[in-house]
Amino acid sequence: MDAPTNPSARPYRSDFLREVEREVEGGEMVKMCMQCGVCAGSCPFGAHWEHSPQKLFMMIRAGKRDEVLGTDSMWMCTSCYNCVVRCPRKLPITTIMHGLASYAQRLGLAPKMQPTRDFSLAFYDNFRRTGRVNELKLTLWVYFRGGLVDGVKKAWSMRRVGLGMLKAGRLNPLEIFGGHEVQDRKGFEAMLAKAAQIEQRKAAQPKD
Ligand code: SF4
Ligand code: SF4
Repeated sequence: MDAPTNPSARPYRSDFLREVEREVEGGEMVKMCMQCGVCAGSCPFGAHWEHSPQKLFMMIRAGKRDEVLGTDSMWMCTSCYNCVVRCPRKLPITTIMHGLASYAQRLGLAPKMQPTRDFSLAFYDNFRRTGRVNELKLTLWVYFRGGLVDGVKKAWSMRRVGLGMLKAGRLNPLEIFGGHEVQDRKGFEAMLAKAAQIEQRKAAQPKD
């Protein structure tokens, strides 16, 4: 006869925890969190997050799928690794934060207009075309994403920095017409194809 399930232990083996273990990079370590709060106290921007890493891990174990995947908290992670070096259970917290953000994005659940998310997408789109970042187009995107008037105001407030970059040759106005390309375009495409292949292989691995 099967041993009776302890009802109080059920939330800690939620379906969502299994899903995170399966789909999120580093997710298999979430169950190791002992809720000491060191990561929450170490995070330089933690006070501005809706949910600290400690709380996110508790919510995952409690099965709060919509709340976890819909929050912008993990998008705020700056990869400073303060939490990782201090965690007594050695959780790869930074990896899990980025893994959760990327999983939410894959499912279409990431909050729209979240600045880090928007910038990540714009950055990828920018370098994907040529293999190199077009600094001018990326800068213009950053300034004008909120509209023309807002963009002009922002650009004006940063005019000294912009002029300094122009003088130092760090910003080339001619890049508006296309810009430079990576030398080994074939190698670049092969690298991206390989990365996609690895992702597909991981996704096709047996679940549980
Ligand atoms: S420091 Fe580690 S063990 Fe402590 S709450 Fe954060 S993730 Fe959990
Ligand atoms: S790596 Fe991310 S979660 Fe960890 S302390 Fe830094 S900002 Fe916070």
